[in-house]
Amino acid sequence: MKLLAAREKIYVRETTGWYSNWRWASVWLTQLVFFGLPWLNWNGYPLLLFDLAASKFHVFGLLLGPQDSIYLAAWLIMAVLVGGLATVVVSRVWCGFACPHTVYTEIFMWIERRIEGGRSARMRLDQAPWSAPKFRKKALKHGAWVLLSAWTGLTFVGYFTPIKTVLHDFLTLALGPWQWFGLLAYGALAYANAGWLRERVCRHLCPSSRLQRVLTCRDTLVVTYDRWRGEPRGLRNAKSRAHHPQSMDCVDCTLCIQVCPGGNDIRQGFDHDCVGCAACIDACNLVMDKIGAPGGLIRYASQRAIERQHRALAVPSSANGGGK
Ligand code: SF4
Ligand code: SF4
Repeated sequence: MKLLAAREKIYVRETTGWYSNWRWASVWLTQLVFFGLPWLNWNGYPLLLFDLAASKFHVFGLLLGPQDSIYLAAWLIMAVLVGGLATVVVSRVWCGFACPHTVYTEIFMWIERRIEGGRSARMRLDQAPWSAPKFRKKALKHGAWVLLSAWTGLTFVGYFTPIKTVLHDFLTLALGPWQWFGLLAYGALAYANAGWLRERVCRHLCPSSRLQRVLTCRDTLVVTYDRWRGEPRGLRNAKSRAHHPQSMDCVDCTLCIQVCPGGNDIRQGFDHDCVGCAACIDACNLVMDKIGAPGGLIRYASQRAIERQHRALAVPSSANGGGK
């Protein structure tokens, strides 16, 4: 008897829209900061360098030492408080838009799509027997992932040793043991997490999905499917709408599931595995556009706001016999 269900590979469909644009803006911004900071100087000193060997930390023009670790502690406490507050207000918005794992996964998936094609093409490729073209595509994809992972590993080490020295020592194979360890460990983590583990990191490894259960409440903005508007699903036509008090706007196309990086069906209700990336909102809004219905069947809303709206809609329909 199997105790654990086997993992089904998720083939995420690409989507476009307002939230996707913001997610990509965040990818660019965070990566410009991550890859750019080690190259910048301030008054002849690195802008950000944690020189552990010399116990000197260059932080935006300040030279700090171990005696200043109180500032680091204060900064970490502030970050935790701000992160907690953001979760109370808009649930896992950090996870969906700015978390390094989400950002790397987005970039890795972009590479995968460019080489192996869209969702259906990737499914067909995986089901096809091994052949030269399949091998070439897989080798190209993994080669690109390894190069990107190596570059992120080098950049990470560049926060502890001047980046030009890191690059020179890497090219001449003169890196020290700790630098090799940092490069390989960070690079391997990026490759394994963004290339292979993906949604399993968010679901099982990251504490955020557990913390969300205690930090959110009925007033927290979460990605929500408007059941009142959508159900019963898959029945939308002019005749059935005329005889039903609800809109039946969900055409049961399942696009919201196909674009979800966790394979969630948001229509089953809010799931704490949801990272709040809003890809399902964008996908559903495109469908609503096509069928001429207003957007927002899936949207950011608090549970209380949705319930209030439904109560307000339910009063007139019960008052007149439920006909409208
Ligand atoms: S994308 Fe919208 S219309 Fe399609 S199944 Fe999901 S909720 Fe229904
Ligand atoms: S349910 Fe929607 S918001 Fe949540 S992870 Fe899936 S696509 Fe993103």
